[in-house]
Amino acid sequence: MILRPLLADLAALFFPRPCLACREPLVAGEAHLCTSCRAELPYTDYHLLPPSQNPLARRFWGRLPVRHTLSYLRFLRHGRVQQLLHQLKYKGQSQVGRALGQLYGAELAEAGLGPEFGLVVPVPLHRRKLARRGYNQAEVFGQGLASALACPHAPHALRRTEHTASQTRKSRTERWQNVAAVFEVAEPAAIAGRHVLLVDDVLTTGATLEACAAVLLAAGASAVSIATIACADH
Ligand SMILES: [Zn+2]
Repeated sequence: MILRPLLADLAALFFPRPCLACREPLVAGEAHLCTSCRAELPYTDYHLLPPSQNPLARRFWGRLPVRHTLSYLRFLRHGRVQQLLHQLKYKGQSQVGRALGQLYGAELAEAGLGPEFGLVVPVPLHRRKLARRGYNQAEVFGQGLASALACPHAPHALRRTEHTASQTRKSRTERWQNVAAVFEVAEPAAIAGRHVLLVDDVLTTGATLEACAAVLLAAGASAVSIATIACADH
């Protein structure tokens, strides 16, 4: 019975796994993140504020109704959050997304938000990127969130219709039109009447999330909320 943890400890002694945020070796009892990173990551705690006082909510004001705009961490360049996202997106560490989803989902559930959401839906990745990465980083985060919130997860409810043309040298309106034409609802019956928690890795301008939210609302979602791993200034 104790052989397995013993072997895991021995393996960790000879091949210590690094913390996914600071790269220091993990010790027994730590998974994915070391204790100091768990304590010191730049959490936003926006889920503890009333929606009217949440600074992230302003990014969608005047654009479309978003019930809760939530982000686990503040994105700071060259910091631990950038390292976590780098591991998740470019180093094949899909468990980073799942672990962060579970940690954040547990906090949202503790704040009483769990029963609000009817369905977790990730922003879909283009199939070429999916083929290269092997997984959708928004989907693995959504998996973790859904399991901690005890909420159904519909990873294929949205799909991309075409490859997004380059966003550079376009006005904001042109950029939005460009993005808006890219998403469609693949599973309308799953969406109708549900409060959808739309998830992605990073919130910056919100153009992609806005386009996804718009098609979800058009397909009959009763409300849309947003949750991302990190939010960046824009
Ligand atoms: Zn660490």
